[in-house]
This record gives sequence, structure tokens and C-alpha cells, in this order.
Amino acid sequence: MRNIGISAHIDSGKTTLTERILFYTGRINAIHDVRGKDGVGAKMDSMDLEREKGITIQSAATFCQWVKDGQEYHYNIIDTPGHVDFTVEVERALRVLDGAILVLCGVSGVQSQSITVDRQMKRYSVPRIAFINKLDREGADPDRVISDLVDKLELNACAMQLPIGLSKEHEGVVDLLTMQAIYSRGDNGEKLEYADIPADMQEEAEARRAELVERLAEVDDEIGELFLMDEEPSLEELKAAIRRATIANTFVPVFMGSAFKNKGVQPVLDAVTDFLPCPTDVENYALRAKSNEDDAAAAGAGEEERELMLSDSSKPLVALAFKLEESRFGQLTYMRVYQGTVNRGDWIFNSASKEKLKVPRIVRMHSNEMQDIDSAGAGEIFAIFGVECASGDTFTHEESRGLSMESMFVPQPVMSLAVEPKRTKDAAKFGKALKRFTREDPTFRRHMDEKTNETIISGMGELHLQIYIERMLREYDLELKTGAPRVSFTEQITQRANFSYTHKKQTGGQGMYAKVEGFIEPLEDGSDEDFVFENRVVGTAIPNEYFTAIEAGFRDAVEKGPQVGGEVKGIRVALEDGNAHMVDSSELAFRIASALAFKSAFKEAGPQVLEPVMAVEVHVPTEFNAAVLSQLNQKKGMINDTAVVGQYTIVKGSVPLSAMFGYSSALRSATQGKGEFTMEYEEHQPVTRDVQAKLMEDFQKQLQAEREA
Ligand code: GDP
Repeated sequence: MRNIGISAHIDSGKTTLTERILFYTGRINAIHDVRGKDGVGAKMDSMDLEREKGITIQSAATFCQWVKDGQEYHYNIIDTPGHVDFTVEVERALRVLDGAILVLCGVSGVQSQSITVDRQMKRYSVPRIAFINKLDREGADPDRVISDLVDKLELNACAMQLPIGLSKEHEGVVDLLTMQAIYSRGDNGEKLEYADIPADMQEEAEARRAELVERLAEVDDEIGELFLMDEEPSLEELKAAIRRATIANTFVPVFMGSAFKNKGVQPVLDAVTDFLPCPTDVENYALRAKSNEDDAAAAGAGEEERELMLSDSSKPLVALAFKLEESRFGQLTYMRVYQGTVNRGDWIFNSASKEKLKVPRIVRMHSNEMQDIDSAGAGEIFAIFGVECASGDTFTHEESRGLSMESMFVPQPVMSLAVEPKRTKDAAKFGKALKRFTREDPTFRRHMDEKTNETIISGMGELHLQIYIERMLREYDLELKTGAPRVSFTEQITQRANFSYTHKKQTGGQGMYAKVEGFIEPLEDGSDEDFVFENRVVGTAIPNEYFTAIEAGFRDAVEKGPQVGGEVKGIRVALEDGNAHMVDSSELAFRIASALAFKSAFKEAGPQVLEPVMAVEVHVPTEFNAAVLSQLNQKKGMINDTAVVGQYTIVKGSVPLSAMFGYSSALRSATQGKGEFTMEYEEHQPVTRDVQAKLMEDFQKQLQAEREA
């Protein structure tokens, strides 16, 4: 069994390669080209929107079988989305796959997206093989792409093949392990012809094979020893060493061909079996919550015990829901089994919601077709229907309750946008769509601005939000009015401040009276919580029935901070005392008193505004290094590291998101189009005092305008 991902920069041919794989593994009967004339389109892109935009934004899992040396292998192909704004989808997919094929364009080589995806793969230690595609195109140069892999991605990449002919002459490849030529023949390249290496390539093939052995000797002890004794390793020894080194992430074997012209695809399928890990080769850990839930919550996640999953089907079940999808069959939940077996009809438990449910149907998905199965064992990927859950939830059997897969790294949203349906009658539909998207994607959030009554959506970048707006139009027929995108600020305090606040109003009839006393303070460093409310009132100064309203008042206040309307994070509110009136006190009075008490104390608590700061990585030919550094300095960026790799310099720094608008064109013009960059959310950091003052002034103006309107 192999759970693999295919990742690539947009337009490198990921979809085309996947399509060919499905054809050669017998999952589909004909090849439809991605933007083909037959209007069917490639299978993996099951969403219209993706097809139109030409980017893959959903990570569907597809099952197929590959037969090699008489043995059948099960492949699950997890489609990893490519765009930088969809990092959570990528990370989620990376969690469930054990290895990956990195697809590169033979002409363009390593592009910005490959750099981002590569960094994520390194973070999750995903072993990979590379496929250099589009060798049929004018200007294709696999050697240059391999140097890119070495220089730009710092991978120990080495060719496993040599191309037989490039651009129009591209016919097949020479396999440097078996030392034979492989030609793809037949209408769809389905017939492989093995032949002698063309005479004029023999010498180069021998030199390349020697280089391959030498490179392996550097990272593998067994081959290293043979190499020192000047002994030729056998085919089996070489294969075993490549497998070991690939799984250990010290080596990346490189394959090549043309997916579009049906060249060199089957050897990649063989390589998946030969060199990428199966589930038992990979260590995965679950967390065991402490038996007393309160203890566990108080101790924080760090105190939970890690437990190694054994990828053994006879163990109690642990499965992770990694993807929800609204399909034409209803809501579908994709899961990966980390240990144990799930059977149709089993009772399973959701570790997050503690709910128990009976497994109605288990299916294997093939893009948008499905196949019923009775059970799924360790390492397998399957889907079930009609289950209410969030992605990232863990499911277990009775015996394995309390285990959950490690929580995923979920970045903070960095950008927000006000949205509203154009037609008021669409309000319910609008709510439904938002509910679904926020459940599927933890980086997509929404909240209500109580003052303006606007719905604010926030996410990982402009395109991320744009995609959801378009999906609402297409899938829900929702026409939306949208505001200008805004950077997401947060607020925090730096010191403790007391409050003692009385809200009192007497206007005929029943009045308003509520008094609250206590303090606010920053939470300890390293706390996972954003907001903690502690009721420390002794005695009966405030009747019990008002405590919920008081907490709600403080929650209202932290949701929209007093300085710039950003969420207040990392704060503790302690309520110590107060007062109520027999007649005039009410829940509303206490809620208002709390919100206003918060505001008054906040001013005294050393408040700060924080802005999203991005980890930016720029790759440029070294001659442009100075230009890049001065650009980043102008943006108030912090340079953390510069390294020269081959002819390139890699600059790593932290730059405020607000300064990054328009950076791609600025970089292009400063580097004659040769510079590339990626960025990823790093953290929220306090802005400088003058920026803070300016932001607060703007916010006051905005509030004023809203009041007047
Ligand atoms: P993706 O964005 O990585 O999924 O790339 P696609 O598979 O959608 O391919 C992008 C474009 O490149 C399409 O027009 C494909 O037909 C074309 N393409 C894909 N593979 C090859 C190839 O091997 N050779 C050539 N010449 N074109 C290719």
C-alpha cells in the first residue's frame, strides 16, 4: 500500500500526470486532456471552478491498483492543492500521505510554488521522488532542473534516467539501474518496449550510472563500503539503498518524461512501489488525553502523552478525518486509518465531540465515482457518508477512546473582508454556505461585526477569500457585495489593570443598574488560550443568574478590541466583586457594564496593536542580492539569514504583510524577472508606536463614519 501525494507548481502537469496514472492503472478507460476538446476534463479536478481557474483547490483522494512483478499494490493518490493561499489544505493532505511525487516542468524548473510545497514537505519529513515533465517541449533541459533541485531546494537529487531525445525527438528514457532503454509505444503509451541503450548514449549512461552510485555512497553505508572496496553493487543492492535513503530523506531519485505525450509514466509508478514508504515504514503518533478531562485541559496539550501508532489492523481503531466534501452523494468525510480496522456497522467515537455513531457505509473514492467496501484496515484511506464532524477530528473504537491524532498546525488568518448577500432573501443560504466552509477549512473564519451588522470573513490571503466568494456564487447561487480586503490586526495588553465600573441609568420606569469589579491581565507566555474568564466572587454581591451575562459582556468586548477593532488575544478577566439592585438590575445591564468596564481597564493595561508578519523567502541569482536586501529593508523587513547556494542567494526574512502588497512585481522588476519568493504566515507582532497611533486614528474615523451613516 502506498499513500502518496502529487505536488507541483501550477501548470507543471500534475493533473495530466494524475490522469495518465489513472489510465495506466485501469481506473479510467480513456485519456481526457486537462483542457481537452472533448469537454470531459481530467478526473481529479472534480470541481468546475478548479477546471476554470486551472488550479486544484480540493485534495480528493483517489484509489488505484498497480501490478508490479506479479504483485498488486494499492495506491491512494491524495491530490495536494498547489496555491500558496491554501496552505491548510496542503498541510492536511501532507499529514495523511507517506510519500510524494514532486512534478517539475522540464522547461521552467523549480518555481516559487515548488519551493513552498518543498518546505512543507520538509516540515512533515515527507520522502519524495521527482518527475521532470514536459520533456517534449522546446527548451526542456532535465539537467538544469536537477541542478535547480540541488541549488534551490537543497535536495540531494540525482537522475535515475537519461532522456532519449528532447523536445520533438523525445521518445523515451534510459534506465540507469537496469541499463536499458524504455520506449513508450502504442496510441496511449501503454506498451513499453525495452531495448538496448542507443549506441551514441552508452558512454554517457555509464558515466551517469557511476555518478549515481557515488552519490548513493555518500548517504548510504552499505553502498559506501562497496564503493571503497571498488566493488560494483548489484541491482538489488542499489534499489534497496535508494529506498533506504529516500525514506530517510537524504536522497531524491529523479525520473523524467512527458505526461502529455505518454512517455515515462509507468517507470514512475514502479518507482512509487520501489522507493516510497508504505504505512508501516512511517512513524505516526497520537495523543492520549489524561483520564480526568479537567486535568488534561488545565495541563495543556504539551502534557498529553504521545503514543506510537503501529499501523496494525488488529489494534483498536484510530482514524483521522482529513477532508470533508459536499459531493453529489451528500456530505462525504475522507479518513485515514492509522491503526486498527473499521467495519461497516461498527460503533465509533469522535474524540473531539465525544459523539458515538454507527458507520453506515464505507467507500473508496475514485474522484467522483465510488466503490462500497466492507472494511478498511491500517494505513487505508476511505470515505463515509452523513457524519457530522469537523476536519481534523479523530475517530476511535471503544477500546481506543481518548486517543487523538496530533492537532494540525493551523495558521492565524491574515486578511479579512466584509461580505453581504445582495438579495436579503438569501440570508439563510448565506449562513449555510459559511457554516459549511468554516467547518471544512479551519483557516477560513467568519464573525459578525455587531456595530455595523456586517459579516466578516477572514483567511490566508486575497485569493483564498476570493475562491470562497466564487464558490458561494456557483454552488449556492449567492450574489455577494464585498468590501475591500483588510489586514487582520489583533490586540493585546502588557500589564494588569483593575476595573470598577457602575452602569446606571434612570429614565422613568425600570432603570438599569449593574456594578462589576476585578482586573484584566495578560495570560502567561505559552498559554494556548486566547481568553480566560475567572469568577472569583465570594458572597452574594452579584446574584448567580448574572454571571453568564457578565462573561458574555467581556467576550463581546474582546472580539472587537477598542483600539482598531481587532480581536484581543491572550487575556485573563477576573471578576472579584460587584453590586446589583433588586429592581433595576438585569442581564442586559450586566452585559453592558462588563463591556464598558473592559474598555476602561484596557486603556490602563499597556495596550498594543499586532499585525501579521510573514516569513518571506527570496531566491535570486546572487548578482541581485543587494537589490533584494534593500527592497526588504525598505519594507521594514528583518533579514534572518542569507545563504549562497550555487549561483543563487537565498534570503530569509520576516516582513509585515501590509508591506507585501505588490511585492511580486517589485521583485520581478528588481531582478529582471529572475527572482522568486514565497511567503507564509509567521506570527502577529506589535506594530511601532507611530503606526499604532495612525491605525487608531483611522479606526476612530471609520467608527465616526459608521455612526453618521
Ligand atoms: P497542473 O496545473 O500542474 O495540474 O498542470 P496540468 O496538468 O493542468 O497541465 C498544464 C498544461 O500543460 C496543460 O495545458 C497540459 O496539457 C500541459 N501539459 C501537461 N503535461 C505536459 C507535457 O508533458 N508536455 C506538454 N507539452 N504539455 C504538457
